[in-house]
Amino acid sequence: MTSFTSDYAGAEICASPNHGDRVGVEHPDILLLHYTGMPSAEGAQAWLCNVESEVSSHYLVHEDGRVVQMVPEARRAWHAGKSVWHGETDINSRSIGIEIANAGHPGGLPEFPERQIDALIELCRDCVERHGIPPERVLAHSDVAPIRKVDPGENFPWGRLAAAGIGHWVEPSPIGGGRFFQRGDAGQPVEALQSMLSLYGYGIEISGEYCVRTEGVVAAFQRHFRQSKVDGVADSSTIETLHRLLTSLPRFA
Ligand SMILES: [Zn+2]
Repeated sequence: MTSFTSDYAGAEICASPNHGDRVGVEHPDILLLHYTGMPSAEGAQAWLCNVESEVSSHYLVHEDGRVVQMVPEARRAWHAGKSVWHGETDINSRSIGIEIANAGHPGGLPEFPERQIDALIELCRDCVERHGIPPERVLAHSDVAPIRKVDPGENFPWGRLAAAGIGHWVEPSPIGGGRFFQRGDAGQPVEALQSMLSLYGYGIEISGEYCVRTEGVVAAFQRHFRQSKVDGVADSSTIETLHRLLTSLPRFA
């Protein structure tokens, strides 16, 4: 496929050879957001369109707000890797992947320019409306692949997206005192924390042991929902924020 018609009216086309059939899914129901994590956006675009990379995404949003579509939405792009959400592991088959040009953690977490986020919001709105993707399924790569992935990072303005009607979010509870749980702890409160994370969608075993995986999932949660402190420690602000997120889900409200 050398070219195709864009699914989003605002997109330029740069066709990537890296895609396949969606497996067992007719319509994508997850919108997965990434940062490119490379020093140059043009380099990232070339890589996503290079057959040797074996990676791709449906869209790339440049710093200046230009949107490039690389894979048709009907096709399965290769961006999620080994991932899980609500027990589903073939996240590529059920998602639309959006790469956001940003140098990321290796580049010192540069801010996302305003015009880039404006363009991203319009793209997300279009995808979500056309496919009926629920707000709580607009996710970070780090949500579906904790520990392994940290993008789009704790600088990503989820609150701004939510204010524009994209994604599920609550204002994080303030950081303060109170009980907290961390790696090495065990018992019923740890089990309760793991149950809440699992109910929200995170891939976590409910073992009652605050293991390395639990710490990584808590950090992933914080990177998205309590961005001011990402340490993998379940303090009262983290637990309260998670609880309020869960109770504000349509299926629990
Ligand atoms: Zn990613």
